[in-house]
Amino acid sequence: MDIKTGIGLDSHRFVEDNSDRPLTLGGLIFDDAPALSGNSDADVILHAVTDAISGVTGYTVIGAVADALCQKGFTDSKAYLKLALESLGDWRISHLSIAIECSRPKIDPKVPALRNSLSSLLAVRVEDVCITATSGEGLSDYGRGEGIHVSALLTVIKD
Ligand SMILES: [Zn+2]
Repeated sequence: MDIKTGIGLDSHRFVEDNSDRPLTLGGLIFDDAPALSGNSDADVILHAVTDAISGVTGYTVIGAVADALCQKGFTDSKAYLKLALESLGDWRISHLSIAIECSRPKIDPKVPALRNSLSSLLAVRVEDVCITATSGEGLSDYGRGEGIHVSALLTVIKD
């Protein structure tokens, strides 16, 4: 069996004015923090996961490809994730580990829902999607509530 791992990082800052769109994380709507800035829905979790997939396929979606989709009106980050997933070929996702740094919104109460959402988007078992969150004692801009940072580590296997 062959194994590969990919890493993906992303961060977005909160919009300063009231946004007409909600905060979207891992495909879920959060109502206890403002939206994140970006030309898409700025789903920082899905962007990090998409980049982690690119980290094993070598096909980069977040960047020029996603920007072009954005300009055509596709702002749902699930579309970028889908493209990356299609590039996996025979490789199958065996595990996803996500670490989130922020002070808002509160992540811990939403961890089960986030795991379910990612499990369904990636077609992997819920127990193979793990999420941790920290405010990092407020030492960074994320911990001080200015935005959200996400690291994603993906393991894929091929029989
Ligand atoms: Zn992003």
